[in-house]
Amino acid sequence: MNKAVRKAIIAGNWKMNKTRPEAKALLEELVPMVKDIKNVEIVACVPFTNLETALSVTEGTNIKIGAENCHFEKSGAFTGEISADMLAEMGVEYVVLGHSERRQYFAETDETVNKRTKAALAANLKPIVCVGELLWERECNITNEVIARQIKLDFFGIEADDLKKCVIAYEPVWAIGTGKTATAEQAQEVCAFIRGELAKLYGADVAETITIQYGGSMNAGNAAELVSKTDVDGGLIGGASLKAADFTAIINAAEIG
Ligand code: PEP
Repeated sequence: MNKAVRKAIIAGNWKMNKTRPEAKALLEELVPMVKDIKNVEIVACVPFTNLETALSVTEGTNIKIGAENCHFEKSGAFTGEISADMLAEMGVEYVVLGHSERRQYFAETDETVNKRTKAALAANLKPIVCVGELLWERECNITNEVIARQIKLDFFGIEADDLKKCVIAYEPVWAIGTGKTATAEQAQEVCAFIRGELAKLYGADVAETITIQYGGSMNAGNAAELVSKTDVDGGLIGGASLKAADFTAIINAAEIG
């Protein structure tokens, strides 16, 4: 089994951007631009306030909608939080979990990422679980240790059948929103390492089926080289997902492979 059997996923992470009218306009522009894409799963992960608009504009199209986080409890006294069931009930399909901005600014840990991943799976959402090293960790030559630990902890207690519903996004923290992209070789090296860690935990056959994206300043200019790598199955895109033309160019690059 190889890359050819894994569908590439290009997911936009809008972060805290776009009002509802802006979200509507962006998606209305995107829908016709990507309507003929066959080999790439296209996902827009949008702020909670835009989910209803996004679901309505993309209904019946080849664009799937995701949220940017969810809580791990089903309901209760968690002011300001949104549960996985609330998202699933709306028709949301994907949810980004463990994004480095959540880990950095909102004190999320591998333990809570693990709990959120389990909650998302229980609600039939497809988690996009983000892992990645800090610049300091790369400089200290412990990238592999950091990634191995995140994979082990974030997926702790998750069975193979559930893992197959997950997407992993390798996002070196130093490349997110900085304009510094990992080279295609660096991205391939770590994505292959992640697949190797999954093989140790779940067996090679399972590991070969898991979509592993690269994320970190991916854009129209560098996407083709990144997604051409054997173990890079698409991308999680921040800034460049906020403009339909830029996002489409990345999707087109992944369609060609
Ligand atoms: C992200 O938010 O996941 C991301 C990769 O951002 P950017 O593409 O802007 O670096």
